[in-house]
Amino acid sequence: MNELTVYHFMSDKLNLYSDIGNIIALKQRAKKRNIQLNVVEVNQTEGVTLDNCDIFFIGGGSDREQSIATKELSKMKTTLKDAIEDGMPGLTICGGYQFLGTKYITPDGTELEGLGILDFYTESRTERLTGDIVIESDTFGTIVGFENHGGRTHHHYGTLGHVTVGYGNNDEDKQEGIHYKNLLGTYLHGPILPKNHEITDYLLEKACERKGIPFEPKQLDNTEEEAAKRVIIERSSKNK
Ligand code: GLN
Repeated sequence: MNELTVYHFMSDKLNLYSDIGNIIALKQRAKKRNIQLNVVEVNQTEGVTLDNCDIFFIGGGSDREQSIATKELSKMKTTLKDAIEDGMPGLTICGGYQFLGTKYITPDGTELEGLGILDFYTESRTERLTGDIVIESDTFGTIVGFENHGGRTHHHYGTLGHVTVGYGNNDEDKQEGIHYKNLLGTYLHGPILPKNHEITDYLLEKACERKGIPFEPKQLDNTEEEAAKRVIIERSSKNK
C-alpha cells in the first residue's frame, strides 16, 4: 500500500473549533484511494527535518497559544520555508495562517513576532469577524466554512477566492486566505476539509505528485460532502 505522511504541528496547542477534523478528512480520502496516511504530531521542533513529511498542517489558536506555538515553530522556520518554496503542500488555519507572516499585532498593540516565511502581517481588533462564510474560488469552486477571528490580514499574494458571505482576510477587500505555491492558509474553521473535498483532494494530489505515487481515482463519490456544503450555503443565504 502506498503511504503519505502528514506532520501536524503544535497539535497540543492549536486545535480550535475541531481543526483536527481536517486530519480525519485527509485520512479518509487517502484511504478511499488505497493510500495509508500516517500522522506525526510535532510539538517539539528542535532538530526536526521534513525529510519524511509529505503534507504539513497547522491549526488555529487563541492569541496566547499562538504566541507559544510561534516561539517553538520559529526554531525550524528555515526548514519550513525551504519546503514551501520547494512545493510541499500545507494547510494552515487562522492562527496558523497568521503567523506565516512577519507579525501579529494584538488589540492592545502588543507585537508578536511571526515566522516571517511570507511578507505580510496581521492586525487584530477586539471586534471579531464571526459566522458562516462562503467563497467563490477559481481553483476550488464554492468553499464554505465558519470564521471567528479578531485578526485582519492584508497581503499581495494569491488568495483562495472571493467572499460572497462573511468577511475572510479582513473586513475590507472581500478576499479569503492565501494560496502560495502549494501552501494554503485560511480563516476557515469548522473544520474546512470535510465540507470542501476539492481542497482535501488538492493537498493529497500535490503530495502524491511530489512523491511520485498514483492519485487514483481522481474523482470520488462526494454525495455526503456536497450535502454538508449545501447546508452552509442554504443557511447563510437566509442570514444574508
Ligand atoms: N488569535 C487569532 C485571532 O483572533 C486566531 C484565532 C483563531 O485561530 N481562530 O485572530
